[in-house]
Amino acid sequence: MTRAREALRTRLEWLRLLGVDALPDRAVATGSRRAAPSPDRHADDATVAPARAAVQTGLFGGLPGEDGVPAAKPRRGARGGEPAVSPLASTRSPAAPDPAAALRLIRDDLGDCTRCALSLKRTQIVFGVGSPNARLMFIGEGPGADEDLKGEPFVGRAGQLLTRIIESMGLKREEVYIANVVKCRPPENRTPLPDEIATCSPFLFQQVQAIRPRVIVCLGTPATQTLLGTRDTITRLRGSFRDLDGIRVMPTFHPAYLLRNPAAKREVWDDMKKVMAELKEAG
Ligand code: URA
Repeated sequence: MTRAREALRTRLEWLRLLGVDALPDRAVATGSRRAAPSPDRHADDATVAPARAAVQTGLFGGLPGEDGVPAAKPRRGARGGEPAVSPLASTRSPAAPDPAAALRLIRDDLGDCTRCALSLKRTQIVFGVGSPNARLMFIGEGPGADEDLKGEPFVGRAGQLLTRIIESMGLKREEVYIANVVKCRPPENRTPLPDEIATCSPFLFQQVQAIRPRVIVCLGTPATQTLLGTRDTITRLRGSFRDLDGIRVMPTFHPAYLLRNPAAKREVWDDMKKVMAELKEAG
C-alpha cells in the first residue's frame, strides 16, 4: 500500500472510531474577533493581550486552509451573536463506538505538536483527563504552570477549586472529562491568541465528538466563545444552556475568577444546579 493510501486508511479508520459516517463538504470557517474584557481567568490581569479569541472550527476540518479551501467567515445568526451553524453540525453523529480508542487516536494525531508557537515554551502537552464515557465535560482556557509541569488540566489552585465544585455536584473528578481550548501553556498564562485557538481547537472538537457528553460546562470567556462560536462574553452568557449539536452547553465563570471574586461562587453554584438537574433528567 502506498503511503498516501495508508494515511487515508488510517484517517478513515479514525473517523469511523469517532462515529462519523459522512464527511462535511469542507473545513468550516475560522474567524477571530475582539471580545470585551470579562470576568474570567484573566479579568483583572493587566498583562492580558487585548485580543480575545473566538474561533469557530470544523470538527474534522484539520487546520484552517489545510484542505485548500479558504476559510470562510462564520455566518452570524439574526441577532448577530450566535453562529448560524454549529461547529459540530455538519458531522452530527452518535458518540464514538469506542470513545477511549477515539481519544487515543486523537492524541496520536496531535503527536508532539509543533503546529503553533505555544509548543516552543511548553513543558508538555496537556491533552485532557477523565472518563471517555463522561456525561459531563468541563472545558477551560489553557494549561497554567502547574498543568504544564504535570501534564494534566486543572491541577493548580483553580483546578483544586474545580475539583471541589465537581465533588459538590456528587461526582468524582475521574467520572467527568476535563480539557482546555489550547493544549499548551500560553507564556505568562496570557489568553490564547486567535491563531493558537484556531490551530488547537479542532482537537478539542474532536474530543467533544468522541465523548459526546450530555453536558459541557465552559469555564470562562475563551472556552465559551470557542465552543459556541460567539463574541458574547461570559457575563452575558452564563447561567443558560445553549445547544451544540444536541449537547447542552452551560457557560459559567472560570474557577480562577472565583478565587479572586469568591462572591461569584453563588452564581456558579446556581449554574451547576442546572447542570445537575439536566443530568438527572437525562437519566
Ligand atoms: N486554567 C485553565 O483554563 N485550564 C487549566 O488547565 C488550568 C487553569
